[in-house]
Amino acid sequence: MTAATITPSAGCTVGTASGEREIRRERGQREVFCGLTGIVWLHRKIQDAFFLVVGSRTCAHLMQSAAGVMIFAEPRFATAIIEEQDLAGLADVDQELDRVVGQLLARRPDIKMLFLVGSCPSEVIKLDLKRAAERLSRLNASTCRVLYYSGSGIETTFTQGEDACLAALTADLPVANPASPQVADLVVAGCLADVVEDQLRRHFASLGINSVAFLPGRSSATMPLVGKGTRYLLAQPYLTDTARLLDERGAIAIPAPFPLGAEGTALWLAAAAEAFGMARDEATRILAPARARADAAVAHYRERLAGKRVFFFPDSQLEPPLARFLMRELGVEVIEVGTPYLNARHLAPDLALLGHDVPLVEGQHVDRQLDRCRAAKPDLTICGLGLANPLEAEGLTTKWSIELVFSPIQGFEQAGDLAELFARPLVRRKLLETAA
Ligand code: SF4
Repeated sequence: MTAATITPSAGCTVGTASGEREIRRERGQREVFCGLTGIVWLHRKIQDAFFLVVGSRTCAHLMQSAAGVMIFAEPRFATAIIEEQDLAGLADVDQELDRVVGQLLARRPDIKMLFLVGSCPSEVIKLDLKRAAERLSRLNASTCRVLYYSGSGIETTFTQGEDACLAALTADLPVANPASPQVADLVVAGCLADVVEDQLRRHFASLGINSVAFLPGRSSATMPLVGKGTRYLLAQPYLTDTARLLDERGAIAIPAPFPLGAEGTALWLAAAAEAFGMARDEATRILAPARARADAAVAHYRERLAGKRVFFFPDSQLEPPLARFLMRELGVEVIEVGTPYLNARHLAPDLALLGHDVPLVEGQHVDRQLDRCRAAKPDLTICGLGLANPLEAEGLTTKWSIELVFSPIQGFEQAGDLAELFARPLVRRKLLETAA
C-alpha cells in the first residue's frame, strides 16, 4: 500500500468522440496495491519467464500473500531481499545479484526470460537495476534475456505493473522487417487468459484476420515482432507506456471500446475488421450469432442488477469500461467512476458510450471518496481489499476490484460471467438478510 501527498482536487476537461466532458482530478492518500501485484498474473502468461523482485521483506510478504494460494512445483517468482547493510558497498550488491541470478539460472535452465523487478524501499532505489539487467543479459546472453522494470508502489499502482513489464518487453522486441512472414497482421496487447486468447483468435479468423499475435506471447520465443505499420489493439486500458513504445516503433493503434461485455466485444472486434478493410455492417453481421449468445447470457442478470446504484473506487483502471458495461447492458445507475489514471486517448471510445452524466474522478483522495460513497449509500461498491471490509462492516455491499483483474472477463463468452461477478455480492447480501 502507498500514501501520496495531499493537494486540492481540480477539474479539467477531455475531448471524446461525443464532445468534451469534465474529469475531476483528486490527489491525496491512495489505497491501491503496488505494481508488484501484476506478477501474480504475469508469471502465468509467459511460461518460461521468472520474476525476481529486488525488494524488502515487505515485498516478499506481499508476493507471498497475494500469490500464496497458488502452488507450483517450481515457482516462477521470488524476492531477493536487500537490506540497508547490504549497501555498505554497492559493488558487493551487484556481485550478490550476479551470484543469486547465476545460481537461479544454473538450477533452472528452463528460465529463458528473467525480469528484475524494482521496488520502493530506499535501499533498492539506490540500486541501478536497469544497468544490472543489461550486465546480467550480457553475462547470460546464450541462455536467458534479462529485463528490468519497476513495480514500486511509488511509481505504479497494481495494473501499471503489467504496463511496466510489457513496456520492458516491447522495448526489447526485435525490430520487424515488414516482409518477414513472422510479422503478424494484428498484435493484441495486454494479458488475457489463454482460453480468452483462443476464443478471440477464432472471432478474428471469422472476420478474415488470421495472423494475430498476442503481447505478451505465451513464451519468450513467441513474442510478436512489431514494426512500422503493424496494427495493434489494446486488450487492457492501462497500457499507456506499452502503447507509447508501440507507437514509437511505427505501429498503428486501432481505437475501440475495450472488449468487456457483449457490446464492447462486438465493437472491439468490428474496429479491427474495419481497420483491415471490412465494412462495419459486414463485421456486425458475422459477429451477430456470438453477440446474441453474449446478450442472452448478460440478460440473465439484468433483473438483479437493473436500477441498482454502483460506486467505483479507483483501483485497476478498468473502471470506465466496466461502468460502461454495467450502465448500457445491465441498466445500472453508476454514481461515480473513480480510476487511478485515465488515458483519455485510449478510453475515448468508452467515454463516448458512457455519456456525460456519470461523474469521473481520476486519482484518489480516499477520505473524500469515502465521504461521497457513504452519503450516496450505493447498492454495490467496487473497491480494493483494504476498503471492502470496513465498508461491509458499515452495511455497504462490496465487490473486490482485484477479482475483476484476476478473472477472465473479456470477450463474448465471458460477458455473462462478468455480469455474474457484479450480481454475486448482491445475492450474498440478500441471503444474509433473509437468514438474519
Ligand atoms: Fe510495499 Fe513498495 Fe514493496 Fe510494493 S514495492 S510491497 S509498496 S515496499
